[in-house]
Amino acid sequence: MHNITLIYGDGIGKEVVLSAKKVVDNFNLDINWEVVDIDYKKLEKNNNPIPLNVIESIKKNKVALKGPTTTKVGTGLKSINVAIRQELDLFANVRPVRSFKGLKNKYSDIDMIIVRENTEGLYLGLENMITKNIAQSLRIISKDKTRAIADFSARLLKNKARKKITIAHKANILKLSDGLFLNESKDVLFGHTNIEIEDKIIDALCMDLVLNPCNYDIILAPNLYGDILSDLASGLVLGLGLAPGANIGLEYAVFEAVHGSAPDIAGKNIANPTALILSAAMMLEHIGYKKEKELIEKALEDIFLEGKYLTFDLGGDLGTKEFTNSLINRINKLK
Ligand code: ATP
Repeated sequence: MHNITLIYGDGIGKEVVLSAKKVVDNFNLDINWEVVDIDYKKLEKNNNPIPLNVIESIKKNKVALKGPTTTKVGTGLKSINVAIRQELDLFANVRPVRSFKGLKNKYSDIDMIIVRENTEGLYLGLENMITKNIAQSLRIISKDKTRAIADFSARLLKNKARKKITIAHKANILKLSDGLFLNESKDVLFGHTNIEIEDKIIDALCMDLVLNPCNYDIILAPNLYGDILSDLASGLVLGLGLAPGANIGLEYAVFEAVHGSAPDIAGKNIANPTALILSAAMMLEHIGYKKEKELIEKALEDIFLEGKYLTFDLGGDLGTKEFTNSLINRINKLK
C-alpha cells in the first residue's frame, strides 16, 4: 500500500488536484490518499510559513501530490511552497518541458528537462532594509548544494537516456557565487562519463531558448534562474497549463505543477489540469507504476493530436472536469 499525502492548496488547486486524483484512482492501484489542509489563518497569525501538519504527513508518507498555494506579492507571509521545499530538503526541482503534436505550437519537437536547485540562492528569503531607502537580499550558493544538484542532474540524464547538460549561470558578473555554481557543477559532471556538457550565460540562454529550444536536453540552473527559465520554456509549449514538476530530496518527494494558484480563473472549472495530471504521472513512476505513467502520457498525446477535446487555454471549450473525463475515457481505451 502506498500512502500519499494530498494537498489541495488554493486558487485552482482543488480543481486540478481532484482531476489528477481521479485519473490516478481510475487505475485502481494500491494507493491510500491522506488529505491534509493548510491552515492559512494559523500560519499568518504566527507569521510562520511552515505548515507543520503537512510536513508531518509527508515525513510519514514520503510522497505527496500538491496543488499550488498563493504567495502574496510584496507583503505578507513568506512562500509556503518554498518553506515546504526547504523544510524537507527537496533540493532538486525537476521540470520537464515538451511540445505535444497537434497543438498550435511554434515548435513541435521541444523535449527538455529543467533541473533547478530548490533550497538556496535568493529563495532563502534573507532580506533586510539597510536604511529606509536601501533593501538588501542575500544570495547563498554553497558547494555542497551545488554538487548535490549537479550529481542529481547527471543521474537523471542516465536514467532518462539523455545526452547533454547545459549549465545556466551569470559567472561573468557574479564571479564568486555563479562562479562557484559553474565550477563545482562542471567538476561533478566531468566525473560522470558520456555527458556532453556546455554552459551558457543566463541572458544569452534565454534568447537561444526562444530561437532554438530543440537544442536543449537538460538545463541545470541555480534556484531563481531555474524558476524563470521553466516559465519561459512552458510559454514555448503553450503555457503553464501543460508544465509539470517534482521536488525531490533524498528522503521525500513532492509532485506539483509549475503554475501557481491562478486566482483569475479559480472556481470556474476552466483550469487546464494537464500540468498536475502529468505531475501525478511523474509521481506514479516514482512509486513504481511506470506503465500507468506511460498510459497517461500516451492518452494525452492522442487527445492533443486529435485536437477535439481541449481546455480553454489551448483554444478548446472543455471545462476542467469534462477534459478529465475525456482523458480517462481515452486511457481506458488504451488499457
Ligand atoms: P506563482 O507566483 O504562484 O508562481 P504565477 O505567477 O506563476 O504564480 P500563475 O498563478 O501560475 O501565476 O498563473 C499565471 C497565469 O497563467 C494565470 O493568470 C492563468 O491565467 C494562467 N494559468 C496558470 N495555470 C493555469 C492552468 N492550469 N490552466 C490554465 N491557465 C493557467
